[in-house]
Order: sequence, then C-alpha cells, then structure tokens
Amino acid sequence: MLAERLVIAGPCGAESKQQVLATAEGLAECGVKHFRAGVWKPRTSPGTFEGVGEQGLEWLVEVRRRFGMQIGTEIANAEHARIAKESCLDFVWIGARTTTNPFAVQEVADSLVELDYKPMVLVKNPVVADLRLWIGAIDRLLRAEIESVVAVHRGFSSPDPIYRNAPIWHIPLEFRRQRPEVPLLCDPSHISGVASLVERVMLKSIKLGFDGYLAEVHYSPTSALSDSKQQVTPAEFGEMLGRLSGQSPDPSANDELNIFREKIDEYDRLLITTIAARMQLSSEIGEYKKARNIQVFQPERYALLMKRCEEIALRHNLSPELARKIMELIHEESVERQLSV
Ligand code: PEP
Ligand code: MN
Repeated sequence: MLAERLVIAGPCGAESKQQVLATAEGLAECGVKHFRAGVWKPRTSPGTFEGVGEQGLEWLVEVRRRFGMQIGTEIANAEHARIAKESCLDFVWIGARTTTNPFAVQEVADSLVELDYKPMVLVKNPVVADLRLWIGAIDRLLRAEIESVVAVHRGFSSPDPIYRNAPIWHIPLEFRRQRPEVPLLCDPSHISGVASLVERVMLKSIKLGFDGYLAEVHYSPTSALSDSKQQVTPAEFGEMLGRLSGQSPDPSANDELNIFREKIDEYDRLLITTIAARMQLSSEIGEYKKARNIQVFQPERYALLMKRCEEIALRHNLSPELARKIMELIHEESVERQLSV
C-alpha cells in the first residue's frame, strides 16, 4: 500500500502537441504530478486511430520540461521499450490486451532487463476475468527486478448493464489479499465507459482501499480521437479530486468480509442476468408456440421441470423446497410472458 494516493491522468491518446500541452497544463493546475498519454493505441478494429507513435513522446518530454510532471505511455513490445527508454519515460504501462499474452509480457520484461531500464511499470488487469493471468504478468516484471510494479484495475470484458468493463470488484480485492505489497490503482475511465460514472467508480475504489487512479482526462473530450465518451476535462477531474480527497479510506474496507460481499454481489448479478436470459428465451418459445397453436401451459412438462430442479438442488446441498419456490415464481412469470406474445 502507498502512503499517499497516486494520481496519474491524461488523455487516452496523444493526438497533437497542442492537445497534450493543453491537457497537461490543466492537470498541473489541479496538482496532478503524473501525466499519461498513449502513443501506440491497441484498437479493437483496424482503421481507427492507432496513435501518433514515437513523435508523441517528444510532446510528453515537453510536458515534463514545462510542468515538472512525470510522464508515461503504454508499451507492448521490445521496440516500444527501447523507444520509451530513449525518452527516459518515468513510467510505462502494460495494457489489458497485452496482459492476456504471457509471451508479450515476457518480451517486455526481458527487454527492460536488457536495456537496464527500470521505470515504474503499471500492469493493467487482463481483459478476461482471470486473476492468475494478472498476477502472472506482475510476477514476470518483479522477476525482471523492476522495483516499482503497480497493478491497475480497469474492469473485465463481460456483459454488464452499466459498465463498459465489468468491475467484478472481488477480483482486485483478492489480488490485494494475495499481493498486499503491490500498490493497486483504479482506472475508473475504462471501467465506466462514460464520463458520468467516473467519480462514482473512483469513490468506490477509495472505499475499498485502492492506492490511487489512472484516469483519462482530455482538454476537449468531445473531440478526442479515442475513448471520447469516458474522458473528463482537467477542471472536472480537479473538482472530483477535491470532493474525493475528503473521503478517508474505510478502515474495514480491506477485511475478508468485503471480499465475501463482492463475491455475493457477483453471484447476484449472475442470478439476475441468467433469469433475464431465461425470460428472453421464454418469449421466443411463446412466439414459436403461438405460430403453431401449441398450448402455453403443459402440466407434464411443468412436473418434469420441477422434479429436475429439485433433484439438482439436492445434489448441491440446497433445500428442494427453496428450489421449488423459486422455480414456481420463475415459471409463473414465464407463462405470463408466453401468453402475452
Ligand atoms: C488505455 O489506458 O488507454 C488503454 C488502452 O487501456 P486498456 O489497456 O485498459 O484497455
Ligand atoms: Mn483509452
């Protein structure tokens, strides 16, 4: 854990010298001391903005010179590491897509050793909700004798009704339990996907005892060439930091109880989304039956379904009565759906 909150902010991507400097100036005024900007952007689809490349690093160096901020960018291979060293970047980060690939992470780790370059290295969680993969990537860097390795929680690719990347909070909390010595930051921008959720996610991360943020800030979010919806202006970010600075960490936030609660929340999410998917299927069956004049309620099918669910419950140490009650409610709703198509 860190003594002070580490705040790293800047645009998703460096787009122009003017955009980089205007954003950095606004952030420096808010007291932010670490400036981020991607110059190599790993985009899902080709033909979208893939970063300005090496020339963007000159703008970052200018930010350090003018505002005294520490500067960093995302690196994904040995060539990026070499170029990052030439600009003496103070920190680099390994993106969520790269963390999923142990070959790439090892290549970066080996190249840092070979270059004898020891910046602070941030490791985003992998896009898939796999804690071991995340810890594995961190361990590869620790073995490369990088002294300052920091984990960044940016959520996971998984259908979620609210967030762009489902936070699945029990995973970073379990990370913290297993690697208490590694500082843990929250990337509220990639979790949220929209600017309006960013502060809420930052607040939640403080309550859970995170060590700071890696956030996306752009002097003009609407004109951003990537991730425009989730970026906030430096002034907005400064106001958020002001409001959040009063929030002291909840002393009980790190206890095991919270880990259990996050797990419970995740199961509830699974329960509700599974019921929703089942209802959707019911409507489709309703259409099918309607088109063929098949009766909606079929007592033999109902009896079989109940028996089956009671048996599954028994096998999993759950009372068959509870399973029956839940299934009665679900079935009732399902019949209603089929009747209304
Ligand atoms: C980024 O920080 O701009 C980025 C690409 O993030 P992630 O790797 O988390 O998607
Ligand atoms: Mn981004």
